[in-house]
Amino acid sequence: MKITFLGTGTSQGVPVIGCSCAACTSEDPRDDRLRSAIHLDIDGVSIVIDTGPDFRQQMLRHQIKRLDAIFITHEHNDHVIGLDDIRAFNFLQRTDIPLYAEERVIKALNQRFSYVFGYDKYPGVPKVTTHTLTANERFSCHDIDFMPVRVMHGKLPIIGFRIGGFSYITDASLIDDASKELIRDSEILVLNALRREDHHSHFTQEQAISMAEELRAKTTYLTHISHHMGMTQDWQQELPKSVIPAYDGLVLTID
Ligand SMILES: [Zn+2]
Ligand SMILES: [Zn+2]
Ligand SMILES: [Zn+2]
Repeated sequence: MKITFLGTGTSQGVPVIGCSCAACTSEDPRDDRLRSAIHLDIDGVSIVIDTGPDFRQQMLRHQIKRLDAIFITHEHNDHVIGLDDIRAFNFLQRTDIPLYAEERVIKALNQRFSYVFGYDKYPGVPKVTTHTLTANERFSCHDIDFMPVRVMHGKLPIIGFRIGGFSYITDASLIDDASKELIRDSEILVLNALRREDHHSHFTQEQAISMAEELRAKTTYLTHISHHMGMTQDWQQELPKSVIPAYDGLVLTID
């Protein structure tokens, strides 16, 4: 499996419009962060987790020419609003694209993109077939096994995913014991770490580090980073060896 970090920034991205802080004016390419999403290539099956506002740019940057499924973690704008741009794949592949999400999320997408889900569709609108996920219940997509893992994002229950030795958790602020069991001992764990100061719906850097230790991941990559973290070259020095800042364009492979 090949994992590509399409975006590793929080909802505003980095740099933030109009900001002249160290991270936003940094020349280190790691400090250029599009909104969080990843792409998985599993034996030629092409899957994205989340289609945020930078989806089009992310597909172009990584020359992704095929899309076999879309997984959505939750309905916040920075994870879904790029959905319209899947049209390019509909045209290329001449098929609907399967979209997997929880029932509440599919309802929210229905409201946000009523023209996609309505009966009297304008020609050329995005075409998806929806598949309802239940948290902590395994599902199969293109004959590959996935586990949607319940995590809490403030008061909002959302999902992350485990695929073999790889776990992807974004926008979490709390993981209960049942879910910890599902993602324990990952070879690669991705966790969100917004900033150093407390936040009501995201792990801080410190919380992400202690969660990574508790979950005994071999290597943990931090994502959904805000400009409040400062420059990557500075905050990476505060991390233990097994915890690494993710950055846009980072590619990992795992058996
Ligand atoms: Zn987010
Ligand atoms: Zn800034
Ligand atoms: Zn969110």
